[in-house]
Amino acid sequence: MPHSFAPPPAPYGASSAVAPRVSEIRAELRFDAASAEARAVATVDFTTGAFDGKPALDLRQELLWVRLDGKQVSTDDFAHHDMGAGWAARTRVLDIDLPADSHHRLEVGYELATPDCEAAKPIGWTKGGVDFDMWMSDLYPGRYLEMWVPAPLIHDRFALHLDITLDGVDRPHKLVANTGGVDATPGGRHWSLMYPAHYTALSPMLVIAPAERIETRRSALRIPGRSRSLGLVVAQLADAGADLAACEADLSAWLSYLSARYEPWPHGDTFWALIWGASRGMEYDAATTSAVSALEHEVFHSWFGRGVKPARAADGWIDEALASWSTSSRRSENPRFLTEELGLDDPPVELYPPHPWSRNTAVGAYSDGVRLIGGIAHLMGGADRMRAALADWYRANAGKMVTTDGLAAHLKAWSGLDIGPWWARYVHGRG
Ligand SMILES: [Zn+2]
Repeated sequence: MPHSFAPPPAPYGASSAVAPRVSEIRAELRFDAASAEARAVATVDFTTGAFDGKPALDLRQELLWVRLDGKQVSTDDFAHHDMGAGWAARTRVLDIDLPADSHHRLEVGYELATPDCEAAKPIGWTKGGVDFDMWMSDLYPGRYLEMWVPAPLIHDRFALHLDITLDGVDRPHKLVANTGGVDATPGGRHWSLMYPAHYTALSPMLVIAPAERIETRRSALRIPGRSRSLGLVVAQLADAGADLAACEADLSAWLSYLSARYEPWPHGDTFWALIWGASRGMEYDAATTSAVSALEHEVFHSWFGRGVKPARAADGWIDEALASWSTSSRRSENPRFLTEELGLDDPPVELYPPHPWSRNTAVGAYSDGVRLIGGIAHLMGGADRMRAALADWYRANAGKMVTTDGLAAHLKAWSGLDIGPWWARYVHGRG
């Protein structure tokens, strides 16, 4: 499997910390509503990469025990380490030197509580009930799968199996996840999930709530370029207050339109949308958890962001800039498809955090990123030209990982324009 997007080894004492290649993660998550406590056991199968060193994997929970290849390891030897991108972007490093290209199994037991990262959400405990949401975010380091389950950075693809048990609950619960591989035990208290093996740490959606708090509608639609129908699951939490039939109609229209405009649909047989009361939205592979007002933006991400995925967190600005430029959102001050001259005398902007172990999307992507795309659209001769260039870029990369350099090279080759000075100033912040 290609591994070229892994960050390079980072200094760790006299040795170095290295990104492993994870093949499979299995985790048992057990929630006990009676004691308002949760625990987990996870197994990570990985191969070390091209370098000798100490493997880096993150988990933003408190460890109870650790084993490597069946042998006990002190939890102190799997502590957080600043890889050079700042403490917020810290990752755990196993303080054991492993030879390059060797296979290993890491097992960890841990308490499952509010993840130790910015703006994470606690597990919701109610009398006899559990409310759980992965609640991922691009904007803060450590806000992907590693909040709840040990995971690599987002360049790595792996099979993910979750076994989830609710104890101490007094009524059935519902689970909404973006995989067809869900085995539900009758009674709404236990599920076994297998997510597709091409998923990365930013792919899996998971929401659990008491069944009476989730309303669900199911339908199917025809989308261009696909012979079979696409299933559409639209659900909402009780506090969302949305018109679910109207959301379903809008989602069907956007899925159909985006399939016609960009093609191909790179995901499986279903799109899942969970509407919540929060004002934000989050994209997953063929799925979203979202406010009604953010739905169009989040559906767009199933093409740009989770259809073509950022190879590194630093590349995450691309999909936020493109989604904000292309869709209507009350968050944006700019009109859809902004086309406006952008000179080379505005203050420089850094949309691409330069450290290879950085782990967040620059927040300027939503505003400065839109101005950059609008400025390049102006240079190219209009929004239609930019949209056609983006459609070609998408089709060439659907299902793959994309980079900031790759997008620049494509736009340059497609248009024949030297966009280098704009990229240098408004992506890399060089004045
Ligand atoms: Zn977005």
